Amino acid sequence: MTVLGHYVDGKRTTGDSERRGDVFDPATGRRTARVALAGTADVAGAVQAAERAARGWRDASLARRTAVLFAVRELVHARRDRLAEAITAEHGKVLADAAGEVQRGLEVIEYACGIAPALRGGFSENVSTEVDSYSLRQPLGVVAVISPFNFPVMVPLWFVPVAIACGNAVVLKPSEKDPSAALLLAEWFTEAGLPDGVFNVVNGDKEAVDALLDHPGVRAVSFVGSTPVARYVHQRGALAGKRVQALGGAKNHMVVLPDADLDLAADAAVNAGFGSAGERCMAISALVAVEPVADALVARIAARMGRLRTGDGRRGCDMGPLVTAAHAERVRSYVESGIAAGAVPVVDGRDVTPDGDPGGFWLGPTLFDHVTPEMSIYTDEIFGPVLSVLRVDSYDEAVELVNASPYGNGTAIFTNDGGAARRYQHEVEAGMVGINVPIPVPMAYYSFGGWKASLFGDLHAHGADGVAFFTRGKVVTSRWLDPRHGGVNLGFPTQT
Ligand code: NAD
Repeated sequence: MTVLGHYVDGKRTTGDSERRGDVFDPATGRRTARVALAGTADVAGAVQAAERAARGWRDASLARRTAVLFAVRELVHARRDRLAEAITAEHGKVLADAAGEVQRGLEVIEYACGIAPALRGGFSENVSTEVDSYSLRQPLGVVAVISPFNFPVMVPLWFVPVAIACGNAVVLKPSEKDPSAALLLAEWFTEAGLPDGVFNVVNGDKEAVDALLDHPGVRAVSFVGSTPVARYVHQRGALAGKRVQALGGAKNHMVVLPDADLDLAADAAVNAGFGSAGERCMAISALVAVEPVADALVARIAARMGRLRTGDGRRGCDMGPLVTAAHAERVRSYVESGIAAGAVPVVDGRDVTPDGDPGGFWLGPTLFDHVTPEMSIYTDEIFGPVLSVLRVDSYDEAVELVNASPYGNGTAIFTNDGGAARRYQHEVEAGMVGINVPIPVPMAYYSFGGWKASLFGDLHAHGADGVAFFTRGKVVTSRWLDPRHGGVNLGFPTQT
């Protein structure tokens, strides 16, 4: 059986560690490959290669760095279908959704092609007599990116192109559940002209993550995953003196006001609730219906759910399987606990007949009504196709509910009242807000990130925050000798 290894210094390798994990096709339930799980020595080898490469890459001109990124963009664009197939084969999301993920990743590569203005410093002439001052942004050196299973292409591409365009070398540790896409990407970066060692991939689990967090050669860590691991990565990385941005889990609310277009809202709730089987950090999992719209809204959503086809992502279905058997079982147990707690299962995904191999990790879309804030289907991030409807009586009650959540990734409001929407965008405690837009993922030139337990650290991903994260500032104060210079003065420098 194929062993998916690492990509270090421009070459594939299976490394020293003999530990292995299993990779499955979630739509058949069959094991398709084994993945090498890096040990501390494998990680050290990758960091060493990156350190060597970083020394040359930081001196490569901005023109050369962006020329390589343009070539990467062309290669990834030409081969986007191959990347989408690799995603579907190991993650399970339907091909059209995988293609959308690749597109959003490409947008960050395109942003990185035009990084030059974002790296521009400032210049002030004559800040003191014949003294000039200017600012520079310089790369950090070696940076690590640790990514989750649910976006095996887009999430690595939130960081890797920006880090590389800024002059850093990268060690990427993808999810061990779907490792193939990252290996393809790294190979294609090399093919596009990136020097060996600037983009390395180590596959692995906690052992590899800990080795990256502790390695003194790694200057910064960009992590995306669940909240408990994000918190841990932030703490351990910071303790080791690194710059860390750790994006965590989510529970995204969609508020529907009584004046909303209910057909638009129902379409949005289905798309954002069940796309990618709910395995998206921006999925809508809690729908807050402001009365009296709940009955009408629930009926419209249920009608649309009846037309969804769950099955193999290569067969043109709407929704694919869950990523692993264990995850499908966990989500199923949440459906059971919702029923036990008294929520009303309007559509029960356990009854689904999938269009796919019976061995796949199937669970259909589930809709719960009359969910209350203390139920675990509401408090916990389920990360599956389970949408909970909570009924409230006013806008104020809706905002209070949303803001009481420990998470603050994305949120959406559906209304035709501009004043209410404006008030919501002002009052809600979340990093990304959609107004009649259910999944408000920012474009690459803005920054992606949540608040509260959805992000540990200060800077968000890509856009201006991404550039700030992957560079450090330096300010130069210069004076070129002039016949009038000189004189001893022990006072603190001030402007004269
Ligand atoms: P995860 O936390 O299990 O894994 C994320 C990464 O951390 C993987 O590379 C994994 O190998 C590693 N890891 C897992 N356990 C670890 C441990 N104990 N110590 C050190 N490293 C560990 O997350 P996942 O299941 O792969 O992804 C789903 C989660 O990611 C969800 O919670 C989702 O909301 C979140 N997510 C968040 C965003 C965001 O932008 N905020 C985006 C995508 C996914």
